[in-house]
Amino acid sequence: MTNLFEQAKPIIKTLKQNGYEAYFVGGSVRDFVMGRDINDIDIATSAFPDEVKAVFERTIDIGIQHGTVLVLSGEDKYEITTFRTESTYSDFRRPDSVQFVRSLLEDLKRRDFTMNALAMDENGKVYDYFEGKIDIENKVIRAVGIPSLRFNEDALRMLRAIRFQSQLGFQIEEGTLLAIKQNAENLNYISQERITIEFEKILMGKHSNLALQSLVESGLASCLQELSNFHNSLTRVNFDTLETIEEKWAKLFIELKIDPKLFLVKWKCSSEKICKVKSLVNCHYDVLNSGWTNRILFNYGLETSLSVEKLKLGRDSNRAYIEGLFQKLNLKSKQDLAIRGQDLIGWTNQKGGPWLGEMIEKITDEVLNGYLVNDKEKIKEWVLSNMI
Ligand code: ATP
Ligand code: MG
Repeated sequence: MTNLFEQAKPIIKTLKQNGYEAYFVGGSVRDFVMGRDINDIDIATSAFPDEVKAVFERTIDIGIQHGTVLVLSGEDKYEITTFRTESTYSDFRRPDSVQFVRSLLEDLKRRDFTMNALAMDENGKVYDYFEGKIDIENKVIRAVGIPSLRFNEDALRMLRAIRFQSQLGFQIEEGTLLAIKQNAENLNYISQERITIEFEKILMGKHSNLALQSLVESGLASCLQELSNFHNSLTRVNFDTLETIEEKWAKLFIELKIDPKLFLVKWKCSSEKICKVKSLVNCHYDVLNSGWTNRILFNYGLETSLSVEKLKLGRDSNRAYIEGLFQKLNLKSKQDLAIRGQDLIGWTNQKGGPWLGEMIEKITDEVLNGYLVNDKEKIKEWVLSNMI
């Protein structure tokens, strides 16, 4: 077993010593079976939330209504969730109620895909009631139970199937795919926040090209509000060689000629992310207009410029070229300019106003283009002779 499981063993043992069942469940067991790196582990137990809290000294309620308690142990924290079943779903997204149960099998039945419905005990024994291991071996994503019913309970699962395809490169099993096609429209009931999380994971997956193909073919793409008009072009976009989510968004907006801001606001992205994506897209168009100028490199900075170079060429080969241009800049940021607005006021005896900013921009241009040395005295001479 990997370190994370080893570290968490005492938690499982403590629950067992107190008469409860406890297992590792979900994605971490799937990734372990596949030999993939494991990021975070989830533990499921027959103990009810109050019972979990009684067993451990330090706990935090993080989702007690869903049965999840956070257990703190030394530096580590573990999410422990009570086995549960979910009752009828009337709104395609949330169960009408959640019942805590004592049976592992009941808990695994409510999970989305067979590969995610695995449990493992502290000795490494895997519990696989739905042939998840065979599906993993065959690289297949298959709904647990009757796919249509499962997607009717929670329509987000359809998008999750595609995101697992993007992360793992698996095929979606025929019956599962058919049910997605039949139920795609129910995606409209899902909140934008949940859709955005899964869609970003699709973009970030190693197999995003394959997943985007499925997204379109399954009909899900035409149910993604702002993307619905573009679903035919979506598969054209190649995200290979791009790394950050901002680069991937930018590529999408450039290829599909979409305004990033309006889109990302609707898709509930953070303003920080919107800002970054906007500047990638703007920088891209500036370079398209005029090639790499000193002004563009200065305005957008090295990091954005390197990303844009990747967007343009679809490969990273000119990194050294951009770095070279940036190194040669006489100014690398606004702070590098040898004068401030206050200097201009002092030299000219004029009040502050919009002219200050304009003058600083002019001086910046002169310095960037090599017509003026970035030296306080030299700039003063230039200003005084240009003001008259
Ligand atoms: P990742 O490695 O990306 O975190 P994961 O499989 O752990 O993948 P999570 O979203 O963290 O995915 O969910 C943890 C587990 O909870 C899943 O493996 C699955 O068993 C179950 N699960 C999560 N969301 C759903 C859902 N909408 N419907 C049914 N089961 C779900
Ligand atoms: Mg997880």
